[in-house]
Amino acid sequence: MSKVSDVYLAGGCLCGAVRYQIKGSFEDVGFCHCSLCRKASGSPTTAWLTTDISNFQYTEGKPASYQSSAVGRREFCHNCGTQLAFYTSEAPNAVDITLGSLDEPEAVQPQYHIWCEYKVGWLSIADGLPRFDDAGPDGVSPRE
Ligand SMILES: [Zn+2]
Ligand SMILES: [Zn+2]
Repeated sequence: MSKVSDVYLAGGCLCGAVRYQIKGSFEDVGFCHCSLCRKASGSPTTAWLTTDISNFQYTEGKPASYQSSAVGRREFCHNCGTQLAFYTSEAPNAVDITLGSLDEPEAVQPQYHIWCEYKVGWLSIADGLPRFDDAGPDGVSPRE
């Protein structure tokens, strides 16, 4: 996928206790349909932005953390529950941020769908973006 440079994005949780910024660049943006993202978000799919951990920092508050699989860890607001970030030990220099928690989610365009094998049947996708049954062509998005 294509790297986007010179970005400054800010976001945070529903209640405002936890705020973050993304400064520098990001690698790619896509929807994940895996069952763990579904449960963690309470929504049929979750859109994620992937960036280097050096580009991401919390500017207010501290998130709670949950080890959601052998390799994955999710961060969310301890007060309101908004899911904010995902880390995997399989890509230790990367962090995924939920697009829905950005202040201006329309500043970023999703590029693909991954883990479509687990997509909920009644969710119909009509955006014309590439779909993958697994983690995608570059394999750097193991969001389980
Ligand atoms: Zn909150
Ligand atoms: Zn997922």
